[in-house]
Amino acid sequence: MLCLDNLLTGNVANIEHLAGRDTFRFIKHDVTQYIYLPGRVDFIFHFASPASPVDYLEYPIQTLKVGALGTHKALGLARSKGAVFVLASTSEVYGDPQVHPQPESYWGNVNPIGPRGVYDEAKRFAEALTMAYHRYHGVSTRIVRIFNTYGPRMRPDDGRVVPTFIVQALRGEPLTVFGDGSQTRSFCYVTDLIEGIFALAQSDEFDPVNIGNPKEMTVLEFAQEIRRLCGGDSEIVHKPLPVDDPKVRQPNIEKARKKLHWEPRTPLEEGLKKSIEYFRALLESGWGSPGMGQRGFKMSL
Ligand code: UDP
Repeated sequence: MLCLDNLLTGNVANIEHLAGRDTFRFIKHDVTQYIYLPGRVDFIFHFASPASPVDYLEYPIQTLKVGALGTHKALGLARSKGAVFVLASTSEVYGDPQVHPQPESYWGNVNPIGPRGVYDEAKRFAEALTMAYHRYHGVSTRIVRIFNTYGPRMRPDDGRVVPTFIVQALRGEPLTVFGDGSQTRSFCYVTDLIEGIFALAQSDEFDPVNIGNPKEMTVLEFAQEIRRLCGGDSEIVHKPLPVDDPKVRQPNIEKARKKLHWEPRTPLEEGLKKSIEYFRALLESGWGSPGMGQRGFKMSL
């Protein structure tokens, strides 16, 4: 297995446990640049992109480039190798949805020129390019629309709601709920997502498929749940709602159920407990203190 990443928002610490295996190799590479790989390639999983709103607001051009130029390079490689190509797309293609829950047939409500447009439109372009390579070049392609996923190895300071609330609760700091917290999200545990993506890769479904957990809750309810599970007494404070923050989000997963025989299995409480354990250990190891690397990780490769 070959792993390519330019580590713009990721960290080698996340693949530390794979280092030294004969079957695994890491190449630090920017996927927007030409990729040459010798030998056979069976599957390409094109997952490169900043994925947190805070990150893609910090790196708007890179986000657009990786969705457009990076997808082009990765598709070109898939075509030349005869590999199956799997695109990580997103629930953000639905924007601030006017259909709820969101089926794959919904075309979305995206503001192309708003701050989130850099991610949403890059992924929408990536889907369009993927379908063009499928139709015009006959590449065997898959598109997974990923809804809010969480679990161990998220960056504690990536700004997304799950690591943010957990780290705040573990430190006894106030939980920062944006707006009145009535906006909804539906959280899927990472192992469920991976099972869904593998089922999709092995299927012959080239139209987009939603992979997510339909259990929907408001952000305020989510803050209360995190506080309960962390066992602290953090207060909840309100901060301004970011521009174009979707008011609702919940996947319709009928297609994944029917075509992939997949559905999520991990209850929220179980997934959150595992995530809390991870972040607790990270904080106890001194994360966030001086000398732990620019983004707070201990650099160990
Ligand atoms: N959010 C929040 N407090 C935070 C971070 C996020 O209330 O400290 C909210 C955010 O406004 C959004 C939801 O949590 O409604 C999920 O945000 P996230 O950044 O995780 O990803 P999104 O689902 O918006 O892509």
